[in-house]
Amino acid sequence: MTNKRVYNFSAGPSQLPLEVLETARDQMLNYEGSGMSVMEMSHRSSTYQKIFDDTKATLKRLMNIPDNYKILFLHGGATQQFGAVALNLMDKGRADYVVTGNFSKKAAQEAAKFGDVHIAYDGKDNNYTHIPTQDELDIRDDIDYVHICQNNTIYGTEWNYVPDTKGAPLVADMSSDILSRPVDVSRYGVIYAGAQKNMGIAGLGVVIIREDLIKPHKENIQVLAEYDTMADKDSMYNTPPAYAIYVLGLVLKWVEKQGGLEEMEKRNIKKAALLQDYLDQSDFYIYETEKGSRSRMNVAFKTPNKDLDAKFVKESIEAGMTNLKGHRAVGGIRASIYNAMPYEGVEYLLQFMKKFEEENR
Ligand SMILES: *Cc1c(COP(=O)(O)O)cnc(C)c1O
Repeated sequence: MTNKRVYNFSAGPSQLPLEVLETARDQMLNYEGSGMSVMEMSHRSSTYQKIFDDTKATLKRLMNIPDNYKILFLHGGATQQFGAVALNLMDKGRADYVVTGNFSKKAAQEAAKFGDVHIAYDGKDNNYTHIPTQDELDIRDDIDYVHICQNNTIYGTEWNYVPDTKGAPLVADMSSDILSRPVDVSRYGVIYAGAQKNMGIAGLGVVIIREDLIKPHKENIQVLAEYDTMADKDSMYNTPPAYAIYVLGLVLKWVEKQGGLEEMEKRNIKKAALLQDYLDQSDFYIYETEKGSRSRMNVAFKTPNKDLDAKFVKESIEAGMTNLKGHRAVGGIRASIYNAMPYEGVEYLLQFMKKFEEENR
C-alpha cells in the first residue's frame, strides 16, 4: 500500500483535481455543519437544494448558457441520452448521425431503434483518424436533428468547427471535451455529457437543451427519459444522482477558480502540443491522427509493434503512471489529458516517452 497518488491517464472515469477530492474529504462526515454527509441528505432539504442550485448556476455562468436553455442532471451517464435524444426529438422520425468513432456509432444504433437514422458520414474507412469537413457531410432535408460526438475518446479526434446542419438542431455528445474550451451554446440544440471525464464522477448525465426542443413526451416512453417531465420537475422527479451533482459543483468551482474555460483551453492547447509536437518529429512512435482532427483530450498513438506497446504500458506503471493502455478496439497507447491532468503530469510522460524511445529504437 502506498499513499502516493499516481499520474492517472485514464479515459474515464478519470483523474479529478486534487483540491476537489480534498474538499469532498473535508466535507465527508459533516457538510457545512449539517451533521451529515451529502450522501445522507434528503434531496428535498434546503441544504441540498442550495448545492443543486449553485451547481446549475455555476455551469450556466461557466459555459455562458443562454436563458432559453434548460440544464438537466439525469441518471444513466451519456449512454442514457443516446436513446432519450431520439425519443424526445424525433417528431418526423428522421435524424442524421455523423459516425466518427465507437460512441457516435452506438448513439446511431440506439436511435435507429426509434426512427429512421441516416449516417451522414462514416469514418470507418480511415480508421476514425479524420473528422469530416463540411463537404463530406451528407445531411438530408426535413430531419429532426443532426447528431455528432464532439470528441472521440477512443480514437483521439475532436471537432474543431461547428458543422452547418441545414437548419436542423445540432445535438452533440460532449462527454469527453465539455469544459475543456469555450463553446457557443447557442449553436447547439442539445449538448449532453457523462460526468466522469471532465466533470466529476460516473452515473450523472448533464443535458443542456434549448427550451423549444422540450416537447410534450410521447406516451410510451420511460418517465426518466421524458425531457419535459424532467424539466418540469427540475431533474427531481425521483432522487437525482445527488452526490455526483455535488462533486460536479466542486469541479465547476475549481474550473472557475482556475480562470474559467478560456484558461482551461489555454492549458489544454499547451498540454496537447507538448505530446503532439514530440510525436510528429519522432520516427519511432506512430501517430496517425490527422492534423486538424486531433483531440486535445485524448492522444492515441503506437510504438513500432505490439510487444513494445505492452512494454511501454508495463514500464509506465513502474514509473508511477496508470491507464496508458489504448482502448481494445485500437491497441497502442492512449494518454487522456483532461482538465484535471496538470502540465507536470504531461511533462513527466514526455520524459518517459523520450527515454523509452532511446532504449528501444
Ligand atoms: C465515456 C463516453 C460515453 C459513455 O458514457 P457513459 O457515462 O458510460 O454512458 C459516451 N460518449 C463519449 C464521447 C464518451 O467519452
